[in-house]
Parts: sequence; C-alpha cells; structure tokens
Amino acid sequence: MSTFTIETAGVTDTGNVRPSNEDHYLAGGDLFAVADGMGGLGNGERASRLAIETLQEAFAEQPTALGLVEAVARANTAVDEAAAAESGPDDRPWGTTLAAVARVGSGDEDRLVVVNVGDSRVYLFRDGVLTRLSSDHSRVADLVRAGEISEAEAAEHPERHVLTLALGVGASVAPSVNHVRPQAGDRLLLCSDGLFNEVPSGEIAAALGSDGRPGDVADRLVAQAKANGGGDNVTVVVADVG
Ligand code: MG
Repeated sequence: MSTFTIETAGVTDTGNVRPSNEDHYLAGGDLFAVADGMGGLGNGERASRLAIETLQEAFAEQPTALGLVEAVARANTAVDEAAAAESGPDDRPWGTTLAAVARVGSGDEDRLVVVNVGDSRVYLFRDGVLTRLSSDHSRVADLVRAGEISEAEAAEHPERHVLTLALGVGASVAPSVNHVRPQAGDRLLLCSDGLFNEVPSGEIAAALGSDGRPGDVADRLVAQAKANGGGDNVTVVVADVG
C-alpha cells in the first residue's frame, strides 16, 4: 500500500517578451517534470517536448530510481539524435534543461527521486521552509559555489542564462540526483528559470505557503513572474503530498 498521495498541476506561459514558448512540462501522475528548450527556430520547443516524451516513455518501462537516471540518458540521446538528423547547417545547437521528480519504491519504501540537468529547479516547501533539491548546472551557479558571487548577484548576472550542462549537446550526460522521503503537507515546486529569475525566493515561499490546490498555486506563481517582467517563458509544476 502506498504511504502517500501526490496531487500535481502544471502551468506554462510564453511570458511577456519571447515570441514563442520553448518550455514543456509533465504533470498528473507519479512522474512530473519541467524542460526549458533552447535553439530557436522551433528547435528548443522540439527539444523540450522530445525530452519530456522520452523521459515518460523510458521511465514507464523501468519505474525505479535507476530507471529515472537511465530515462534521462535516453532523453539526452533522443534530443541529440533529433538535432543531428534535423538541424539545418546554420541552426544554433538544440538543447534543453530537464528537472524531474518520480515516486519510486512500494509501500513503506516509497520515496521521491529528483533528477536535474541544466538550471530548471526543484524546491521542497516543508513546514514553511523553502529548500532546493536540485543543483543548477550553470556558469553563475559555479561562481556561487566558488564563493565569488552571491545568489542575489547570480540572479542579476549578465551570464545567468549560460548553462554548463544540458540535454542534447553531447553523447552522454550525468544528471544531479537527490532523494526525499515525503511527509504529508509537503509541497514540491518544479520550475524553469523564467520563474526564479523574476520572482524572489521569499515571494515563491509566500505563494507556496498560500491556500489552494496545486493548480491555483501554479497559476499564482506564473502570474507573479509575468507581473515582475515575464522576460522569459515561465513554467511551474506544483505537487502536494498528502
Ligand atoms: Mg528559460
């Protein structure tokens, strides 16, 4: 018997500035994810969609922690091969971030596994405290880890969009992996950088602490990102543990 329930909802929006939406998300089941594509000319949109579709297909075949990591590898290969087969000579490289959470195990062993590549994030909101479960793979995250700039400076840094790892740009990829033993009342947030580059973490925490179903909270966060500028595509998945 499962030890917890999960209710998820996702919202994606082009934002106020970008001509198209290159983000995709997956919600509604025991696997949920956000992907933020790059490449332009529709290629970023194809990359993020293909990554999510491949992840879902591969994880369904092997719904374990190892299976999730291998599903990320399959998603990488799928995007890499599609880019090689379909890119025009002048196209920019295709790529996409991917942040995903899956329920694995059975009964008392149930837990959530978190994987990410790039700078889409996974947060846990528990007992009023917001913690990040994912690790950004980006130039500014390296600078923060090295103590050269603060989190606040990273959010304003001119190179904040430069990734050090993405799906579809190399033959292999090693995602960051984390595990969490969920508790009733936990709320998880998956989001693309269009959220956290616009909405400070205090405001994110306040929205996650508000009443409402996951869909209401997701709507609130996306509206806040757009009210604060909406400079990028913004995608949010909210998952409530009961
Ligand atoms: Mg983005």
